[in-house]
Amino acid sequence: MGSVVVLGSVNLDLHLQVERHPRGGETLLAGDLERRFGGKGGNQAVAAAAAGAAVSLVGAVGDDDAGREYLRRLEAFGVRVEAVRSVQGTSTGTAVICVDAQGENTIVVAPGANHRVAPDALSALDGLQEGDVLLAQLELPLEVVAEGVRRASARGARVVLNLAPYAALPEDVLRLADPVVVNEHEAAQLEADGLHPASLLVTLGAEGSRWDELEVRGERVEHVVDTTGAGDSFCGALAARLAAGDDRRAAVQSATEAAALTVQHEGAQPPLPRPS
Ligand code: ADP
Repeated sequence: MGSVVVLGSVNLDLHLQVERHPRGGETLLAGDLERRFGGKGGNQAVAAAAAGAAVSLVGAVGDDDAGREYLRRLEAFGVRVEAVRSVQGTSTGTAVICVDAQGENTIVVAPGANHRVAPDALSALDGLQEGDVLLAQLELPLEVVAEGVRRASARGARVVLNLAPYAALPEDVLRLADPVVVNEHEAAQLEADGLHPASLLVTLGAEGSRWDELEVRGERVEHVVDTTGAGDSFCGALAARLAAGDDRRAAVQSATEAAALTVQHEGAQPPLPRPS
């Protein structure tokens, strides 16, 4: 059974409930402030650990309370954090998310420590070997992600590359991933940019997903509470099951079930596991 290394971002999400979004120059009052653990890297690492994989995260936090708290949380989920640097004089990535009465949101992200992840962090990938999985997204500097994909692939590890938030990576990098994972919006952008990954998995919201010719239907969910992080849960569980040796169909099925659980609670990450 291989292990999973997640190369990705860590963010503290600050949620504000507003009646309506402010106009330029306007000040509004919001409801209660809610802090949630987010960032695609952190979300996917937790999801992979919850799906049973041995997981380590490569990334960075600031030298602040949010960073320390996030590291403790990752450890509580069993995610190894030796390769998460604590960057002096920088704050942990922070996202301010405003949700209005219609459920429409606006998001402003201060990447903070995430943008301080440099190529030297990639030495943490040196232990990767055949059977292991590198799972990456695009909230770190793109050249670091591209180099990480090349290195992991050169060591014989499988690369699962979630092209989110969308950016066009060089086609030779996309071709190393098996699969590139995108949602429908990102798939349309790939198409518009004329990019063709060798292995492409498109998630289709409640409909399910399609990995090349393989189609898997979504799970029927009675009460959808919050779809934030559905794609992250899907990617984390997918990487965990591929590292465990599942074939495509079995891995996607598990990922679909994990994502269906995520849409049934608030936030992108599950509640903290109890010590038992
Ligand atoms: P993203 O969160 O990246 O936009 P999607 O919306 O495509 O990605 O969702 C990712 C996966 O989560 C889907 O492939 C599906 O398995 C699951 N999912 C998303 N929304 C629902 C839903 N309403 N009911 C059940 N499963 C869902």
